[in-house]
Amino acid sequence: NTNKIFRSINPFTQAIIAEHEVLTNGELARKLELSQSAFKYWRTTTFQERADKMKNLASIFRTNKEELGLLITNEMGKILPEAIAEVEKSAGNCDYYAENAQKMLKDKYYDTTFKSISVYDPMGAVFAIMPWNYPFWQVLRYAAPAIMAGNVTLLKHAPNVVGCAKAIENMFLEAGFPEGVFQQINIDIPQVESVIASDIVSGITLTGSEMAGSSVAALAGKYIKKSVMELGGSDAFIVLDDADLEKAATVATKSRMLNAGQACICAKRFIVTEKVADEFVALFANKIKALQQGNPLQSGIQMGPLARIDLAEKLSCQLKNSLQQGARMIVGGERDHCNFQPTLIDFVDANNIAFKEEIFGPLATIIRAKDENDAIVIANDHRYGLASAIWTEDRERAYALARKIEAGNVFVNSLVRSDSRIPFGGIKKSGYGRELSDIGIKEFMNMKSVIIE
Ligand code: NAP
Repeated sequence: NTNKIFRSINPFTQAIIAEHEVLTNGELARKLELSQSAFKYWRTTTFQERADKMKNLASIFRTNKEELGLLITNEMGKILPEAIAEVEKSAGNCDYYAENAQKMLKDKYYDTTFKSISVYDPMGAVFAIMPWNYPFWQVLRYAAPAIMAGNVTLLKHAPNVVGCAKAIENMFLEAGFPEGVFQQINIDIPQVESVIASDIVSGITLTGSEMAGSSVAALAGKYIKKSVMELGGSDAFIVLDDADLEKAATVATKSRMLNAGQACICAKRFIVTEKVADEFVALFANKIKALQQGNPLQSGIQMGPLARIDLAEKLSCQLKNSLQQGARMIVGGERDHCNFQPTLIDFVDANNIAFKEEIFGPLATIIRAKDENDAIVIANDHRYGLASAIWTEDRERAYALARKIEAGNVFVNSLVRSDSRIPFGGIKKSGYGRELSDIGIKEFMNMKSVIIE
């Protein structure tokens, strides 16, 4: 694998930004050894020492947010304000775990006649396989808690955002973390198994597609390594008769179109009760039509291109099939290279490709439900269970309905988002395990019971 190259291509200009060499197997072995020696030292450091460095990292992110935002935009195409906001959110996550990790991992005493305590020990290296859609946030979301807990990490980022991965590694070093605590590794899929097999790797976290998750989870099973899978989604956005339709349509537009529709937790299936469907569709269509699409670096632009040409082509294909299967075009539908017009289709049913498959781009689908119960049945009739939103003015009813939804997160009258303080993850084919909060930080820890007679 000596000569393989990963290319960063600007999806808006098509210019090749940089080329990155894939590690040889020998180079990879040295990175794994470095990880091992870094862990030996890092696990002995105090929370305070780790927190000081994590705070430095947050401040380096903030100081360089414009430049880092530009790097994100150039590599994967999201609009610059969203890219800068992503850097800020990542910095906030570093601060959060710097301040809270120790509290989250404190010893727990059990009610027994003898002394029994559970303690949390770090386990080694967390091997992370990450996607390109939030090239900073996805990384810091797992790395800040893992490193604060005393683990080290190896990151295999998506090949189109290697520039971001390298920048993150450099900033870890600049913040004072010892070499090997955070390492970015450029590897090809056939090399993944050797990393998972390595003794230093004690856990694997993957954010990506169901296919990647299935293959990596199988390898994790083979080598008996704990894994967390954050996979695809087809989140329901349920609008009931009594919803504030204007507000729902505004948040629907944001929830579907942010990051050009390329987020696992973008709302993807808009399930609207019949009584309010026409009105909601009209409001939603107007808001979608008003979106300014174009150069992601230009101010006032609200949506950039999709991250890669193959993704844009796949979306065109899904749209075409969906229309052939009976969906009706309301707005949009055109594509120029990676620029896919924000689009709305109506009368999608549960057999339609736009219902069944994950739609990873700015294409919103309306599914009309008879009533509230029908809406919940439709929402749950899916292989994925990442997140969901319910829109109703009745908060008590909303809670009861939320309990019936098959998903890892349910948001009422609000935009689905991840938050450092709240557990995040999915069920069904959206994966397993949780990231963030006191739950997420414990995924890659040895919860050791100590019994003293
Ligand atoms: P992807 O193709 O699965 O890629 C994600 C990462 O997995 C990349 O680094 C990719 O590397 C790697 N990968 C792919 N196949 C692999 C394999 N067989 N073995 C090891 N690694 C493999 O996903 P994507 O298209 O970049 O991202 C979009 C998907 O991620 C969507 O399904 C989205 O919903 C999901 N996602 C989920 C979350 C969440 O929190 N649940 C968050 C964001 C995105 P290569 O590119 O080198 O193959």
